[in-house]
Amino acid sequence: MPAEVLQQAATEMLDWQGSGMSVMEMSHRGQEFGRILEAAEADLRELLAVPAHFRILFMQGGGLAENAIVPLNLSRGESVDFVVTGSWSRKSFKEAGRYCQARVAASNEADQHTSLPAPATWQLDGKARYVHLCSNETINGVEAHELPDLKALGSDAPLVIDFSSHVASRSVDWSRVGLAFGGAQKNLGPAGLTLVVVREDLLGHALEACPTAFNYQTVAENRSMYNTPPTFAIYMAGLTFQWLKRQTEGALRGVAAMEARNIAKAELLYGCIDQSAFYTNSVAPDCRSRMNVPFFLRDESRNDAFLAGAKAAGLLQLKGHKSVGGMRASIYNAMPIEGVQALVAYMREFEQQQA
Ligand SMILES: *Cc1c(COP(=O)(O)O)cnc(C)c1O
Repeated sequence: MPAEVLQQAATEMLDWQGSGMSVMEMSHRGQEFGRILEAAEADLRELLAVPAHFRILFMQGGGLAENAIVPLNLSRGESVDFVVTGSWSRKSFKEAGRYCQARVAASNEADQHTSLPAPATWQLDGKARYVHLCSNETINGVEAHELPDLKALGSDAPLVIDFSSHVASRSVDWSRVGLAFGGAQKNLGPAGLTLVVVREDLLGHALEACPTAFNYQTVAENRSMYNTPPTFAIYMAGLTFQWLKRQTEGALRGVAAMEARNIAKAELLYGCIDQSAFYTNSVAPDCRSRMNVPFFLRDESRNDAFLAGAKAAGLLQLKGHKSVGGMRASIYNAMPIEGVQALVAYMREFEQQQA
């Protein structure tokens, strides 16, 4: 979370803008929360340049619930293609198999999830109801820097992206997307809020078994208020959207400014890793994630010393995911370049100490 956002929430905690209430105490149907929700939606639409024929839904259940909710709404129980590029898309594929005929159209398992299969090599099913891609594999550090153009591949299927871990870190080419979903907790706000951006023509096809509260059409018709939405999380995300709108890098504003900043952050860290014989990252350079940077010490017996020294220097949460091992630096939007500079300085110093 950006520190400024936390500060503002702290200031408004007991009394939101003279209302005499905390946001947590408001009726979700009241005027005050109505303003918060409307502003959050409008700001997000502006930030991500979401076209008018897409609906923005604020839901709950996280990315993992969407792994079921998407096939319940879009698959019609028929064939769905998955591009399996790491832990998250594998989970999505497995869960979808409970509701539809999930098939793997492409996979990078052969190289331990360190590459992105070229779209021209995907074995797409002409009858697939959608094609699922995790556009940033958080655990493996693999990011699709450009979204595939399925039409150019001869497919009419909508592309569904799980953009949980890089939403708002760069722009989205909506002409290539049918639906995007993501948990808020990495780049947008606290856990508990799930964002869904869905093209209007994909609404209204849910399976009979789809829970009403998870039917996109119902959620859209009720402006994300069919049931009580996660009001405080929406408020916090709304503050983050306002913060994002204020960000500038030279002439760039908002998400474009974040993208430039994220590129600079990632180049700094990957540059440090690549220049050193002490650290490695095995992800193919053309699909290295700008948000999640897994790396290894060539001598893994020094991992504990590395983490202890990092912690002492105020550099936290660097231990890699248990399925991958090593280290992982998650340098989300809220991480300033100074944080990455501090990490790189520590990495160089640790390397020298060990020499
Ligand atoms: C973190 C993450 C999720 C998380 O799902 P939750 O249900 O919110 O825990 C899903 N997909 C990706 C790509 C993620 O990074």
